[in-house]
Amino acid sequence: MKTAVPATPTLVQGPVSIARQHGEACFHCGAVAKKLYADGCITLAGRDRVWPIVTCGCRRQAVAS
Ligand SMILES: [Zn+2]
Repeated sequence: MKTAVPATPTLVQGPVSIARQHGEACFHCGAVAKKLYADGCITLAGRDRVWPIVTCGCRRQAVAS
């Protein structure tokens, strides 16, 4: 059997804004005007749904050097 899970989703305990949850804003800082990159996925505590998220790179030191 082949599993189709690309990465282990990050479990998020607290409430997440809809924009961040839906990958429309940087998950970490909420930026929407920056270039956004796919950054894995999250799952909310108590839910089965997995959401792909994006980041502007604020959590990574060397994104576009
Ligand atoms: Zn950011």
